[in-house]
Amino acid sequence: MSQDEKECIFCKIVAGDLPTNKLFENDWVVAFADIAPKAPQHVLVVPKKHIANLNEIDDADRDLLANLMFSVRDVARKLGIGDAYQVKIYSGEKAGQSVFHLHIHVIGGWEKAQHH
Ligand code: AMP
Ligand code: ZN
Repeated sequence: MSQDEKECIFCKIVAGDLPTNKLFENDWVVAFADIAPKAPQHVLVVPKKHIANLNEIDDADRDLLANLMFSVRDVARKLGIGDAYQVKIYSGEKAGQSVFHLHIHVIGGWEKAQHH
């Protein structure tokens, strides 16, 4: 395990070394509630493999990336927000990335009449 991975909070969550509100898990990914939700529903879908961000993906990650997107869909359904949700990935510090382990924000749950 690299130094990056040893110090990575999402690797710690994947390993079960940090407590989290886990919503979903399969061989490839884990999904858990964001600790500082920006909307009524805010879940992070995270590959179990440590990948810093989209710039670090390669051909060997094709199955993993497909699984991530299917997991996003399944998580939204599980949250009951399958009809309306945002999917966000921040890549790079200047874009607002603060945790350098790839993660997809699944955000939703606004009241129907409200806008975000
Ligand atoms: P970003 O890298 O900008 O996509 O932001 C990382 C996200 O991870 C933020 O929305 C944080 O609130 C969230 N976060 C950081 N630490 C934890 C944690 N221990 N458990 C759950 N979510 C976290
Ligand atoms: Zn990591």
